[in-house]
Amino acid sequence: MADLEYHEMAWAERTIDFYGGDDGDQEVPAWHSAWEGDMDSEASTEVMQLDPSTFPPGTKIIIKAPVCPSCEEHRYDNSSHCHCGHDWSQFDEQWA
Ligand SMILES: [Zn+2]
Repeated sequence: MADLEYHEMAWAERTIDFYGGDDGDQEVPAWHSAWEGDMDSEASTEVMQLDPSTFPPGTKIIIKAPVCPSCEEHRYDNSSHCHCGHDWSQFDEQWA
């Protein structure tokens, strides 16, 4: 059987709400996502839930983490620095 092609139904990126928290001055993890048919993408600080009954069998969920440009290991947590010392803060600012 030939390999199937896959159609992208949605995407999401882990972003940062730089104006979160009760006082609007905390950095809060967020998802920026868009689903096929949506007019706009949207940001949310809610837990992303994926109900398996809404997807056809064979649907894949792919999660990709950024790879450090210095040591080529993937970023595995919320640390501001890679274990090699690479500073992620400039990268993180693009999510503002
Ligand atoms: Zn590194």
